[in-house]
Amino acid sequence: MLLLIPGPVQTRPEVRAAMAQDIAPWDVDFQRVYARIRERVLVIAGGTPGEHATLPLQGAGHFVTEATIRTFVAPGAKVLVPMNGAYAQRMARLAREAGRVVVELKLTDTRGATAADIMPALAADPDIGTVAMVFHETGSGIVNDAEGIGAALRGAGRRMILDAVSAFGALPFSLAAHPECDALVFTSGKCLEGMPGIGFAVARIDRTEACAGQAGSWSLDLSDVLAHAKRAGWGSIRFTPPVQAIAAFDVALDLYDAEGGQAARLARYRANTDALYDGIIGLGLRPYLAREHQGPVIVTVHQPADPRFDLMSFVEALKRRGVLISNFYNTAAPTMRIGAIGAITPDDMRRAVDAIGATLNEVLTKAA
Ligand SMILES: *Cc1c(COP(=O)(O)O)cnc(C)c1O
Repeated sequence: MLLLIPGPVQTRPEVRAAMAQDIAPWDVDFQRVYARIRERVLVIAGGTPGEHATLPLQGAGHFVTEATIRTFVAPGAKVLVPMNGAYAQRMARLAREAGRVVVELKLTDTRGATAADIMPALAADPDIGTVAMVFHETGSGIVNDAEGIGAALRGAGRRMILDAVSAFGALPFSLAAHPECDALVFTSGKCLEGMPGIGFAVARIDRTEACAGQAGSWSLDLSDVLAHAKRAGWGSIRFTPPVQAIAAFDVALDLYDAEGGQAARLARYRANTDALYDGIIGLGLRPYLAREHQGPVIVTVHQPADPRFDLMSFVEALKRRGVLISNFYNTAAPTMRIGAIGAITPDDMRRAVDAIGATLNEVLTKAA
């Protein structure tokens, strides 16, 4: 099966094979692996040892995103979220339900947010201390300008939290160049092509320590994750980790390095996206985003305006041809979402386009 979803992604056999073992989390061999992956992702994040630390958290991306908001935004403090997609809405909800005051900045989901969108709202409200934003918006496929927004926040003396879950490892962002960024967040199962099961915040050590005590949750307190590492060692983890997923992640990072790191991964994903985008147009379908706003992670496509088209049946029929795409969408208009990330190539994308074309013929020639 060709898995074309934006996470958990299609993985390589070497990564899956690393799962086939039993592991004790406190065993020194495992602790070496765990400490090593923390160092490896710190390098990918452009972090500075001694200034930044990798703070992992078991579970899905939402957990580490919530932990990051709880850790770096005080209860009752204001955080602005640029609202241009499903994952921005999720971030806002996590913050709101954690008792932080969310200022929602409504934007369209068909282009990335820029500093020009955000700075007037910040100028109008000096109480907004932090902007929590999504880097690549997996709802539609747009990329928000983390680089430019970060620079503007730095100039304005505000802080940034970056949800880089579907961007990290592919889209460039260097923490060393962004001292305004308290933490960036990502997971094992997206652009780094590991198994799902663990999230990471790469965070500023000074800010993590200065913010100790405000998370309001022990399990979601990244300052406690840092304190634990300092006390018990960087190979130690507070609660039972997904040991197999971590072992597999170490192998995924080997493959990432062997491929050529961030630049090579971005180039492959961009080639995947281009093949998909062109192929979709060739089928007579309409991409949701204009080409200049199309990011390199997921292509959303307007559903055919034909009453016989039903997304769920289409996805099931496509699956019978060996290609699995999401059976839901989260853009403003009805779309199909097709992932372009994972251990896949432009040839896979062309094969998928053929399968999509054949499946459309099949489902649209059936009686309504
Ligand atoms: C996948 C994703 C998440 C986290 O999703 P989980 O299902 O909790 O792992 C968060 N933000 C973005 C932008 C994502 O793409």
